Amino acid sequence: FSSVELTQTFLERIRKLDPQLNSFITVTETEALETAKQADRRLAEEKHSPLTGIPLAHKDLFCTEGVKTTCGSRILDNFVAPYNATVVEKLAQAGAVSLGKTNLDEFAMGSSNESSFYGAVKNPWNLDAVPGGSSGGSAAAVAARLVPAATGTDTGGSIRQPAAFCGITGIKPTYGRVSRWGMVAYASSLDQGGPMARSAEDCALLLQHMAGFDPRDSTSIQRAVPDYLSLLDEPLQGLTLGLPKEYFGADLNPQMAERLQAAIAELEKLGASVKEVSLPLTRLAIPAYYVIAPAEASSNLSRFDGVRYGHRCADPKDLEDLYKRSRSEGFGEEVKRRILVGTYALSEGFYDAYYRKAQQLRRLITQDFQKAFNEVDLLLAPTTPTPAWDLGSKTSDPVQMYLEDIYTLGVNLAGLPAISVPAGLVGGRPVGMQLIGNHFDEGRLLNVAHQFQ
Ligand code: GLN
Repeated sequence: FSSVELTQTFLERIRKLDPQLNSFITVTETEALETAKQADRRLAEEKHSPLTGIPLAHKDLFCTEGVKTTCGSRILDNFVAPYNATVVEKLAQAGAVSLGKTNLDEFAMGSSNESSFYGAVKNPWNLDAVPGGSSGGSAAAVAARLVPAATGTDTGGSIRQPAAFCGITGIKPTYGRVSRWGMVAYASSLDQGGPMARSAEDCALLLQHMAGFDPRDSTSIQRAVPDYLSLLDEPLQGLTLGLPKEYFGADLNPQMAERLQAAIAELEKLGASVKEVSLPLTRLAIPAYYVIAPAEASSNLSRFDGVRYGHRCADPKDLEDLYKRSRSEGFGEEVKRRILVGTYALSEGFYDAYYRKAQQLRRLITQDFQKAFNEVDLLLAPTTPTPAWDLGSKTSDPVQMYLEDIYTLGVNLAGLPAISVPAGLVGGRPVGMQLIGNHFDEGRLLNVAHQFQ
């Protein structure tokens, strides 16, 4: 069948099912069908890639020329970027057909997708449960088969955690592997884009096209992109997986621990061996992250001032009033909380006590990972301590929500790649197994995930 037929099929599913899920902010039906037509012409010729004509969706944090980019925020409700993010451009060049932009926590701040100006996303496995966040729209859309694959971004778990909660696969690449150009910044030293899809194989295909050096991103790494697909079938004999004991402690839901034990047994059957390792500072990743990320966010979000982008308040008295009311009206509660925390942590007199301490912790946490990688090839851990919680059950206590990120934050602080792979159900809700690699070991992560699937 043709790309047009495929695109129509998915658009039809979006029309039918998304009113319940709320996974899309914008559906670009006309543009999608036009791109699909072009893809069909390309498919008839010699020049096409395996992605040509395949529908996908972009997290609404990636700039898309001519199509709204809201970041889930009222402040960007009317923002249309004049250019495409590198990731969007690369996937378009490969011939992929974008169906639209997916819902997310406002400016990617959150773990449940409830902080979006466009309303919460629901988990397709159970409409009372959160889909995870912040890439919850992408995860729910892929899980509900509204689209075969989607892009996401991961600053502290936002690809892996929603992938886990929705029973799909998502990989957060090494910091610098995928260009951040045109990806609206939350915490620049932690942000990284990556694919979310039904399988590791699909993620490999997408990452192949997303990764690579980009001179427009100053932290992009100049290093060849391996052929991820050709590595998928490598046997696992001789591979050593480290089990960080701090990830299997009292925080972990006991039924999830059982699911992970079953997954470990499966990997052993496939030839891998396991070994306990220690990442002693695991718990301190939470305070370190929740100082560094808000600090960077407070600086990044200063550009939204009512002058240059997005929402502007009505009839400002003077410049001060324009800034104050535009920002008060444009930002939601969680974003304001982060800006306040970040501004405080960076203030004179508090900088040494908070920001510098957090950076020191970051260094030590990174060193712990490096020590572990001297002993083992990859780390195996749960993606989250529990399955998806009920909508609304954690919104009144932000710190309670931050604690749920315990197993994902360290990876971002250390700039490492990690993948979340479905590991079964607990109480009818999906849970994820996380594999963490050393820098640039995406190929091996995809390989092990693929063998496991
Ligand atoms: N839950 C984390 C936060 O709110 C991570 C979000 C993300 O990775 N974008 O900061």
